[in-house]
Amino acid sequence: MGYAKELLIRRQELGARVGETDDAVCDSCFADPYVQEWVRTNADRNDCTFCGRSEPNCAVDIDEVWELISFGLRQEWDHAEEWSSHVAQYTSYDVADSFDPELFANDDLRTAFIDTFSDWAFCERDPYGLSQDRAYAVGWEQFCEHVKHRTRFLFQVEPGTEQKEHWSYDGVSVGALLGAVAESCSASGLIQRIAEGTSIYRARLDLPTVSFSHASELGTAAADDHRHPNRMSPAGIPMFYGAFSAETAIAETFDPAADKATEVIATVGTFVPSRDLRVLDLSQLPDMPSICEEGSAARRADARFLRAFARDISQPVPRDDRVHVEYVPTQIVCEYFRRLYRDDEGVLDGIVFPSARRGGEAAVVLFVEHDACVDAPGSGKDRLELRLTDRHLFGPGLASLVAPAR
Ligand SMILES: [Zn+2]
Repeated sequence: MGYAKELLIRRQELGARVGETDDAVCDSCFADPYVQEWVRTNADRNDCTFCGRSEPNCAVDIDEVWELISFGLRQEWDHAEEWSSHVAQYTSYDVADSFDPELFANDDLRTAFIDTFSDWAFCERDPYGLSQDRAYAVGWEQFCEHVKHRTRFLFQVEPGTEQKEHWSYDGVSVGALLGAVAESCSASGLIQRIAEGTSIYRARLDLPTVSFSHASELGTAAADDHRHPNRMSPAGIPMFYGAFSAETAIAETFDPAADKATEVIATVGTFVPSRDLRVLDLSQLPDMPSICEEGSAARRADARFLRAFARDISQPVPRDDRVHVEYVPTQIVCEYFRRLYRDDEGVLDGIVFPSARRGGEAAVVLFVEHDACVDAPGSGKDRLELRLTDRHLFGPGLASLVAPAR
């Protein structure tokens, strides 16, 4: 095929501006690691039009990049004119918004994308269906609504909810949602280990006149004493809530609105597990796969869903005397991972989640009961124990201590 004809086809495919400029772009102008690497591999130009960088072989012809991106876009977007006039249409501006900031690191480059693809009327790749990530998102919304306001305990055996596909054009069914969440987590490598001997901190707040020094006081509450529901555990089913720093443990426990900041102090116990822990780790989600990487659509859908799910699950709920149904969906998810989840290596010991009160830090809930929080090792039983190794007092004036980490 002659160059002129090839160029014509590429123009038809990509948009009117292709071939009209002599622009080149360097890897630093992209935020997407896959595209950065692609630019480095193919770089044969010396000047980046967008950031002004000038080095031997640091940039590629911009049309080459538009071709790569156009291929990637086809995984999630389509030409609206190929469908009926009823489908929802999007501009190149909307499309840029949908992956910003994960693709571009330079505003002029982003603008050039919008201009170059401005002749396209975009629609979603399957405009009459529900994309996989939307199916998960809709399924999660339905699940939360359902267990908060309709069927709390028997939703998995409710007729009609158990047989559906994990995802379909109707969204993930309520009964199948937990399995879909588990599959997503496991496929995304979120089952992780916390090494034996790792320090895990748990905070208990009270007036300075009250002191705590034993694992029975600083560890998981006894079932009879566990009267308040928590994010992951209903009243009566206590779990060990901790963090990987004393400050985060306090931040997760201390509620400036409910606790009188000047009065309460925190006793923080340092616990170490008697063996490696296997946890679902929602605090370190994998990078969003590149839209330009072949076959990334399903992994991108998983990644988007897990981000939204991790955000929901770490939302703090006000600590007051009201009964909070907001906790119910996360309590069910937690119980699922505690009681039903199994993989080749067995069961899980807990869930690590991003701390909403200290961004960038992680908190953990462990499935460890009151009598497995011990002052001295050696119960003789082959069971998971958390041994109290140290304790520190913090406060008064906890509010300044637990300011967000970043
Ligand atoms: Zn550049």
